[in-house]
Amino acid sequence: MKNSVVPIWTESTRNLIKPVVVLVITFAATVKLSQALYRYSRRRARNRSETMSSASSSGNEADVRRSRVRSSKLYFDIPNSKVPLIYSSAYDISFLGIEKLHPFDSAKWGRICGFLLVDNVVDKNCIVEPREASKNDLLVVHSEEYLNSLKKSANVAMIIEVPPVAIFPNCLVQQKVLYPFVNQVGGTVLAAKLAKERGWAINIGGGFHHCSGEKGGGFCVYADISLCIHFAFELLNISRVMIIDLDAHQGNGHETDFANDSRVYILDMYNPGIYPFDYEASRYIDQKVAVASGTTTNEYLRKLDEALEVAVRSFDPELIVYNAGTDILDGDPLGQLKVSPDGITNRDEKVFRFARNRNIPIVMLTSGGYMKSSARVIADSITNLSKKSLIDTGKNITNR
Ligand SMILES: [Zn+2]
Repeated sequence: MKNSVVPIWTESTRNLIKPVVVLVITFAATVKLSQALYRYSRRRARNRSETMSSASSSGNEADVRRSRVRSSKLYFDIPNSKVPLIYSSAYDISFLGIEKLHPFDSAKWGRICGFLLVDNVVDKNCIVEPREASKNDLLVVHSEEYLNSLKKSANVAMIIEVPPVAIFPNCLVQQKVLYPFVNQVGGTVLAAKLAKERGWAINIGGGFHHCSGEKGGGFCVYADISLCIHFAFELLNISRVMIIDLDAHQGNGHETDFANDSRVYILDMYNPGIYPFDYEASRYIDQKVAVASGTTTNEYLRKLDEALEVAVRSFDPELIVYNAGTDILDGDPLGQLKVSPDGITNRDEKVFRFARNRNIPIVMLTSGGYMKSSARVIADSITNLSKKSLIDTGKNITNR
């Protein structure tokens, strides 16, 4: 019986199997397809909403930045009787003697100015005094969180590399350390406006190129270079800026802030064997020129000539921000290069000539280099720029 039934069952099953299999396959395929379609449409909707929210948040960010810049008081009209040399006695840091714990001459800025006055390169009442950057100004680049972090003395101590500052009450740190810095920031921002009007401007301070919007370090608490450039974008109708960073150290702050921003071209000539070893930020340098420890004056200047030639072929700036650190000086314990004082004078002259020959407004910042001899070297270099008529300080010193 078993044998007689089975062929009958097999025969009828065989007849049924084909349509059932087709049905099952069709059903499974339909389920799979609808699941895939559902996932695809959800993914699309999510992407669209993410794109829209990031576009609207970056749109909002740009609007907020614009309104902060437009309500700032850092740009103000400077009478023609003044010379675009910017300095305030508020720049200098004195902190109950504690500043001497750092290998920095923390009164460098005042001493540069003193030399220029004594040497009769400029009249005291011709020097432009900037305004201090307010919290609203600093927020153009910095986050609220970063600025709040400076309310802890330990954080400021870490950034300026003076550990004992950590134990001081924050109000004292604000007044003795941060106040000088916000004044120098005000000077850097104002310098771009003056440079646009007069062709050049020198802030006898600033150049805190290790600080980005979110992070300070290496004695740099505020990102004055990034602030200066954002103000210029917004208020000076400028859309292409070249940063020429010739401090001995890598300018990782502005590099981080302008990562992938095609409006800013960065030429950075630095010693890669010293602080800050920021390889991530170095990816955003448009033109990297390594100067190894022990590089001497002639080799340094030759590399600079080559670099400027490449830069001029690569980018057509409407403003140059020149970070003129003097820690490339022979004997500087941090820079480890061997450039002579005359080499610094030559370097600054080359950069100013580069800007002048192309009619590009130039802002110079004094940046790093805090040996006792730095102030004299910087003053001598500014005097040379005046002698060569690359700047006009209101005194005829061409034939002196
Ligand atoms: Zn430096």
